[in-house]
Amino acid sequence: MNKPAVQLQEVSFHYESDKGKIPILQDFNFQINEGEFVTIIGPSGSGKSTLFKLITGLAQPNEGDIFLRNQLQAKRLGHVGYMPQQDLLLPWRTIIENAALPLEIKGMRKQDAYQQIQLLLQEFGLTGVENCYPHELSGGMRQRVSFLRTILSGASILLLDEPFSALDAITKISMQEWLLAQWQKRSETILFITHDVNEALFLSDRIFIFIDKPTSYLEEVNVPLSRPRVLKDLDEPLLLERKNYLINLLKARVSS
Ligand code: ADP
Ligand code: MG
Repeated sequence: MNKPAVQLQEVSFHYESDKGKIPILQDFNFQINEGEFVTIIGPSGSGKSTLFKLITGLAQPNEGDIFLRNQLQAKRLGHVGYMPQQDLLLPWRTIIENAALPLEIKGMRKQDAYQQIQLLLQEFGLTGVENCYPHELSGGMRQRVSFLRTILSGASILLLDEPFSALDAITKISMQEWLLAQWQKRSETILFITHDVNEALFLSDRIFIFIDKPTSYLEEVNVPLSRPRVLKDLDEPLLLERKNYLINLLKARVSS
Protein backbone atom coordinates (compact mmCIF):
# COMPACT_ATOMS: atom_id res chain seq x y z
CA MET A 1 0.00 0.00 0.00
CA ASN A 2 1.25 3.45 -0.88
CA LYS A 3 1.21 5.79 2.08
CA PRO A 4 0.90 9.40 0.93
CA ALA A 5 3.71 11.65 2.22
CA VAL A 6 2.61 14.88 0.52
CA GLN A 7 -0.72 15.64 -1.13
CA LEU A 8 -1.96 18.81 -2.78
CA GLN A 9 -5.68 18.92 -3.48
CA GLU A 10 -7.22 21.45 -5.84
CA VAL A 11 -4.51 23.96 -4.97
CA SER A 12 -4.49 27.35 -6.69
CA PHE A 13 -1.76 29.88 -6.14
CA HIS A 14 -0.86 33.23 -7.68
CA TYR A 15 1.66 35.97 -6.93
CA GLU A 16 0.52 39.59 -6.78
CA SER A 17 2.50 42.07 -8.86
CA ASP A 18 2.16 45.68 -10.09
CA LYS A 19 0.64 44.31 -13.27
CA GLY A 20 -1.88 42.14 -11.43
CA LYS A 21 -2.02 38.47 -10.58
CA ILE A 22 0.58 36.00 -11.81
CA PRO A 23 -1.15 32.61 -11.70
CA ILE A 24 1.22 29.68 -11.07
CA LEU A 25 -0.99 26.77 -10.00
CA GLN A 26 -4.64 26.27 -10.91
CA ASP A 27 -6.77 23.47 -9.36
CA PHE A 28 -3.57 21.53 -8.98
CA ASN A 29 -3.48 17.94 -7.67
CA PHE A 30 -0.32 16.12 -6.77
CA GLN A 31 0.74 13.23 -4.53
CA ILE A 32 3.99 11.56 -3.56
CA ASN A 33 4.30 8.52 -1.32
CA GLU A 34 6.46 7.71 1.66
CA GLY A 35 9.95 6.52 0.78
CA GLU A 36 9.77 7.67 -2.84
CA PHE A 37 12.44 9.65 -4.67
CA VAL A 38 10.48 11.96 -6.94
CA THR A 39 11.93 14.62 -9.22
CA ILE A 40 10.26 17.71 -10.57
CA ILE A 41 11.60 19.02 -13.83
CA GLY A 42 10.66 22.05 -15.91
CA PRO A 43 12.02 25.20 -17.53
CA SER A 44 13.00 28.10 -15.28
CA GLY A 45 10.05 30.20 -14.25
CA SER A 46 7.58 27.32 -14.48
CA GLY A 47 6.82 27.27 -10.75
CA LYS A 48 9.02 24.51 -9.33
CA SER A 49 10.41 26.55 -6.42
CA THR A 50 6.95 27.96 -5.79
CA LEU A 51 5.61 24.42 -5.39
CA PHE A 52 8.31 23.80 -2.76
CA LYS A 53 7.48 27.03 -0.93
CA LEU A 54 3.86 25.91 -0.75
CA ILE A 55 4.79 22.48 0.59
CA THR A 56 7.16 23.92 3.22
CA GLY A 57 4.63 26.51 4.33
CA LEU A 58 6.71 29.52 3.28
CA ALA A 59 3.75 30.33 1.01
CA GLN A 60 0.07 29.50 1.49
CA PRO A 61 -2.31 28.41 -1.28
CA ASN A 62 -5.05 30.84 -2.31
CA GLU A 63 -7.33 27.84 -2.61
CA GLY A 64 -7.09 24.14 -1.85
CA ASP A 65 -5.44 21.98 0.78
CA ILE A 66 -2.01 20.56 1.49
CA PHE A 67 -1.67 17.34 3.48
CA LEU A 68 1.49 15.93 5.02
CA ARG A 69 1.11 12.21 5.82
CA ASN A 70 -2.65 12.46 5.51
CA GLN A 71 -2.85 15.35 7.99
CA LEU A 72 -4.24 18.63 6.75
CA GLN A 73 -1.39 20.98 7.65
CA ALA A 74 -2.12 24.68 7.57
CA LYS A 75 1.12 25.38 9.45
CA ARG A 76 3.72 23.30 7.67
CA LEU A 77 6.87 25.18 8.65
CA GLY A 78 9.28 22.82 10.38
CA HIS A 79 7.48 19.64 9.25
CA VAL A 80 9.55 19.15 6.11
CA GLY A 81 13.28 19.57 5.56
CA TYR A 82 13.96 22.18 2.90
CA MET A 83 17.20 22.81 1.08
CA PRO A 84 16.73 25.99 -0.92
CA GLN A 85 18.27 26.70 -4.32
CA GLN A 86 21.20 28.64 -2.83
CA ASP A 87 23.07 26.90 -0.01
CA LEU A 88 22.33 29.81 2.37
CA LEU A 89 25.12 28.97 4.79
CA LEU A 90 25.78 31.83 7.17
CA PRO A 91 29.23 33.19 6.20
CA TRP A 92 30.08 34.30 9.73
CA ARG A 93 29.46 30.86 11.23
CA THR A 94 31.86 27.93 10.97
CA ILE A 95 30.75 24.68 9.35
CA ILE A 96 29.83 23.05 12.65
CA GLU A 97 27.99 26.20 13.77
CA ASN A 98 26.05 26.25 10.50
CA ALA A 99 25.17 22.56 10.77
CA ALA A 100 24.09 23.01 14.40
CA LEU A 101 21.46 25.65 13.56
CA PRO A 102 18.38 23.38 13.39
CA LEU A 103 19.39 21.68 16.65
CA GLU A 104 19.94 25.03 18.36
CA ILE A 105 16.55 26.21 17.15
CA LYS A 106 15.04 23.12 18.77
CA GLY A 107 16.71 24.18 22.04
CA MET A 108 19.43 21.51 22.15
CA ARG A 109 22.54 22.37 24.17
CA LYS A 110 25.44 23.42 22.00
CA GLN A 111 27.66 20.68 23.38
CA ASP A 112 25.08 17.97 22.61
CA ALA A 113 24.46 19.39 19.15
CA TYR A 114 28.18 19.38 18.34
CA GLN A 115 28.50 15.81 19.59
CA GLN A 116 25.70 14.66 17.29
CA ILE A 117 27.26 16.47 14.32
CA GLN A 118 30.74 15.06 15.01
CA LEU A 119 29.30 11.59 14.48
CA LEU A 120 28.03 12.54 11.01
CA LEU A 121 30.98 14.56 9.66
CA GLN A 122 32.77 11.58 8.19
CA GLU A 123 29.66 10.21 6.50
CA PHE A 124 29.11 13.59 4.89
CA GLY A 125 32.72 13.89 3.73
CA LEU A 126 33.37 16.83 6.04
CA THR A 127 35.98 15.47 8.44
CA GLY A 128 38.49 18.13 9.41
CA VAL A 129 36.61 21.14 8.04
CA GLU A 130 34.22 21.65 10.95
CA ASN A 131 36.02 24.79 12.09
CA CYS A 132 36.38 26.32 8.61
CA TYR A 133 34.11 29.04 7.26
CA PRO A 134 31.86 28.39 4.23
CA HIS A 135 34.04 30.45 1.84
CA GLU A 136 36.97 28.11 2.54
CA LEU A 137 35.06 25.09 1.17
CA SER A 138 34.43 23.85 -2.38
CA GLY A 139 30.93 24.06 -3.85
CA GLY A 140 30.38 20.31 -3.37
CA MET A 141 31.38 20.52 0.29
CA ARG A 142 29.12 23.50 0.93
CA GLN A 143 26.22 21.53 -0.58
CA ARG A 144 27.00 18.63 1.77
CA VAL A 145 26.95 21.00 4.77
CA SER A 146 23.64 22.35 3.57
CA PHE A 147 22.31 18.82 3.17
CA LEU A 148 23.61 17.82 6.61
CA ARG A 149 21.77 20.79 8.07
CA THR A 150 18.59 19.73 6.27
CA ILE A 151 18.92 16.15 7.60
CA LEU A 152 19.49 17.47 11.15
CA SER A 153 16.15 19.23 10.99
CA GLY A 154 14.88 15.69 11.71
CA ALA A 155 12.22 15.77 9.01
CA SER A 156 11.63 12.61 7.02
CA ILE A 157 10.28 14.48 3.98
CA LEU A 158 13.09 16.37 2.25
CA LEU A 159 12.67 18.97 -0.46
CA LEU A 160 15.87 19.67 -2.38
CA ASP A 161 15.74 22.57 -4.85
CA GLU A 162 18.39 22.19 -7.58
CA PRO A 163 21.05 21.23 -5.04
CA PHE A 164 23.68 20.28 -7.61
CA SER A 165 23.07 22.71 -10.45
CA ALA A 166 26.08 24.90 -9.66
CA LEU A 167 28.55 22.01 -9.45
CA ASP A 168 30.99 20.86 -12.12
CA ALA A 169 30.07 17.64 -13.96
CA ILE A 170 32.34 15.27 -12.03
CA THR A 171 31.48 16.64 -8.58
CA LYS A 172 27.84 16.49 -9.57
CA ILE A 173 28.01 12.78 -10.39
CA SER A 174 29.75 11.92 -7.15
CA MET A 175 27.18 13.97 -5.20
CA GLN A 176 24.33 12.15 -6.96
CA GLU A 177 25.80 8.77 -6.03
CA TRP A 178 26.34 9.97 -2.50
CA LEU A 179 22.78 11.28 -2.21
CA LEU A 180 21.33 7.96 -3.40
CA ALA A 181 23.42 6.10 -0.82
CA GLN A 182 22.19 8.45 1.92
CA TRP A 183 18.59 8.09 0.80
CA GLN A 184 18.79 4.30 0.72
CA LYS A 185 20.23 4.25 4.21
CA ARG A 186 17.74 6.64 5.77
CA SER A 187 14.49 5.82 3.93
CA GLU A 188 13.33 9.41 3.72
CA THR A 189 10.94 10.71 1.12
CA ILE A 190 12.79 13.00 -1.28
CA LEU A 191 11.31 15.54 -3.62
CA PHE A 192 14.04 16.93 -5.83
CA ILE A 193 14.08 19.75 -8.39
CA THR A 194 16.43 19.81 -11.36
CA HIS A 195 16.47 20.91 -14.97
CA ASP A 196 18.92 18.14 -15.83
CA VAL A 197 17.15 15.21 -17.51
CA ASN A 198 20.00 12.75 -16.86
CA GLU A 199 20.07 13.68 -13.19
CA ALA A 200 16.30 13.15 -12.94
CA LEU A 201 16.51 9.70 -14.57
CA PHE A 202 19.49 8.57 -12.53
CA LEU A 203 17.98 9.54 -9.17
CA SER A 204 14.24 9.08 -9.32
CA ASP A 205 11.47 6.54 -9.08
CA ARG A 206 9.11 8.98 -10.83
CA ILE A 207 9.60 12.26 -12.66
CA PHE A 208 7.00 15.02 -12.97
CA ILE A 209 7.24 17.70 -15.64
CA PHE A 210 5.72 21.16 -15.66
CA ILE A 211 4.07 21.38 -19.07
CA ASP A 212 1.59 24.26 -18.96
CA LYS A 213 1.19 27.59 -17.18
CA PRO A 214 -0.66 28.10 -14.97
CA THR A 215 -0.14 24.48 -14.04
CA SER A 216 -3.03 22.21 -13.19
CA TYR A 217 -1.35 18.93 -13.92
CA LEU A 218 2.18 17.56 -14.13
CA GLU A 219 3.05 15.00 -16.78
CA GLU A 220 4.38 11.86 -15.09
CA VAL A 221 7.17 9.58 -16.30
CA ASN A 222 8.29 6.52 -14.35
CA VAL A 223 11.89 5.35 -14.38
CA PRO A 224 12.12 1.61 -15.16
CA LEU A 225 15.41 0.97 -13.38
CA SER A 226 16.11 -1.18 -10.34
CA ARG A 227 18.42 -0.08 -7.55
CA PRO A 228 21.26 0.27 -6.81
CA ARG A 229 21.98 2.07 -10.07
CA VAL A 230 25.12 2.94 -11.95
CA LEU A 231 25.40 5.76 -14.46
CA LYS A 232 25.85 3.32 -17.32
CA ASP A 233 22.24 2.16 -16.77
CA LEU A 234 21.16 5.38 -18.48
CA ASP A 235 22.50 4.00 -21.78
CA GLU A 236 19.87 1.24 -21.90
CA PRO A 237 17.45 1.64 -24.84
CA LEU A 238 14.38 2.00 -22.59
CA LEU A 239 16.11 4.79 -20.68
CA LEU A 240 17.22 6.56 -23.85
CA GLU A 241 13.62 6.46 -25.00
CA ARG A 242 12.45 8.03 -21.70
CA LYS A 243 15.18 10.63 -22.00
CA ASN A 244 14.09 11.66 -25.51
CA TYR A 245 10.48 11.79 -24.39
CA LEU A 246 11.40 14.13 -21.53
CA ILE A 247 13.56 16.36 -23.72
CA ASN A 248 10.81 16.66 -26.32
CA LEU A 249 8.25 17.57 -23.65
CA LEU A 250 10.56 20.26 -22.29
CA LYS A 251 11.34 21.59 -25.77
CA ALA A 252 7.65 21.84 -26.59
CA ARG A 253 7.10 23.67 -23.30
CA VAL A 254 9.89 26.19 -23.92
CA SER A 255 8.78 27.01 -27.46
CA SER A 256 5.04 27.26 -26.66
P1 ADP B 1 11.17 27.95 -11.10
O1 ADP B 1 11.64 27.54 -9.76
O2 ADP B 1 10.46 26.87 -11.87
O3 ADP B 1 12.25 28.56 -11.94
P2 ADP B 1 9.57 29.90 -9.62
O4 ADP B 1 8.64 29.05 -8.85
O5 ADP B 1 10.72 30.48 -8.91
O6 ADP B 1 10.05 29.09 -10.93
O7 ADP B 1 8.76 31.10 -10.28
C1 ADP B 1 7.59 30.89 -11.07
C2 ADP B 1 7.12 32.22 -11.60
O8 ADP B 1 6.69 33.04 -10.52
C3 ADP B 1 8.18 33.01 -12.35
O9 ADP B 1 7.57 33.62 -13.45
C4 ADP B 1 8.64 34.04 -11.34
O10 ADP B 1 9.05 35.20 -11.99
C5 ADP B 1 7.39 34.29 -10.53
N1 ADP B 1 7.71 34.61 -9.12
C6 ADP B 1 8.48 33.89 -8.28
N2 ADP B 1 8.55 34.46 -7.07
C7 ADP B 1 7.78 35.57 -7.14
C8 ADP B 1 7.42 36.60 -6.20
N3 ADP B 1 7.86 36.57 -4.93
N4 ADP B 1 6.61 37.59 -6.64
C9 ADP B 1 6.14 37.62 -7.91
N5 ADP B 1 6.43 36.69 -8.83
C10 ADP B 1 7.24 35.68 -8.47
MG1 MG C 1 13.54 27.61 -8.91
